[in-house]
Amino acid sequence: ILKDKVALVTGSTSGIGLAIARSLAAEGARVMLHGFGDRDANLALKEELAALSQDCAGFSDADLSNPEAIDELVAQCTNELGSPSVLVNNAGVQHVAPVDDFPPEKWDMIMAVNLSAVFHTTRLCLPSMRQRGWGRIINTASAHSLVASPNKSAYVAAKHGVAGFTKSVALEAAKDGVTVNCISPGYVWTPLVENQIPDTMKARGLTREQVMNDVLLAAQPTKRFVEPVEVASLALYLCRPEAGSITGANLSMDGGWTAQ
Ligand code: NAD
Repeated sequence: ILKDKVALVTGSTSGIGLAIARSLAAEGARVMLHGFGDRDANLALKEELAALSQDCAGFSDADLSNPEAIDELVAQCTNELGSPSVLVNNAGVQHVAPVDDFPPEKWDMIMAVNLSAVFHTTRLCLPSMRQRGWGRIINTASAHSLVASPNKSAYVAAKHGVAGFTKSVALEAAKDGVTVNCISPGYVWTPLVENQIPDTMKARGLTREQVMNDVLLAAQPTKRFVEPVEVASLALYLCRPEAGSITGANLSMDGGWTAQ
């Protein structure tokens, strides 16, 4: 369904973004892989995506906290692959601390990567989508775009911001064949989550099982982690022609978390 289309997926070197990049490439999209990590491993991922899609994929490690680097990311994607018809704003960072101890530089970083970067990529990619009369903007928000947890003030504020931004741009683009939505997962099994487990075990004197079930999955009624491929399949669905009337939506995939 995405043959001859270009997809820019931010934060796609790992976790949810990588699953989305793979599923878009498998449908024929030329994918711009993006994110940090080991350079050789990322170039190998780029080759894997290219093999899925007419030997064509790109890679960038642009730092999304820097608006100039975002300009370069979109320019590089346009030069190497073409202007994106699918933009997935997925990169995100987290920091956990009480608000009165929250380091201001961490606040600024979370706002820049999780919220402002979504504005910058959108403003840069929307004009060519409009010209083409077709586009899909998919933002990875979070259950934390709808409800809060303590000690995550910056993340919750940024994700609520993404949900609001999504609605506003959806209205602006509604007549142009461009849909704008967010997907809001609960806990997804990714490196971001897995890496929290040893520290939480130590800090609270818990076993691995206890951290997973009593801490991470405490609010998730299904008591299982969402898999990255489940999020990817929803993102792919939003790219289908029959999803053309879904716009401005915040689609939960959280095992019932926000139904409580
Ligand atoms: P991850 O840590 O596996 O991947 C994050 C990606 O973002 C990586 O590719 C990383 O290199 C990139 N990135 C981080 N900072 C960057 C920066 N400054 N510039 C460029 N790239 C940067 O995380 P994930 O769990 O796959 O999360 C992906 C998205 O899903 C995030 O927006 C996150 O908030 C959201 N989310 C995750 C969960 C979860 O439980 N894992 C739940 C809800 C929402």
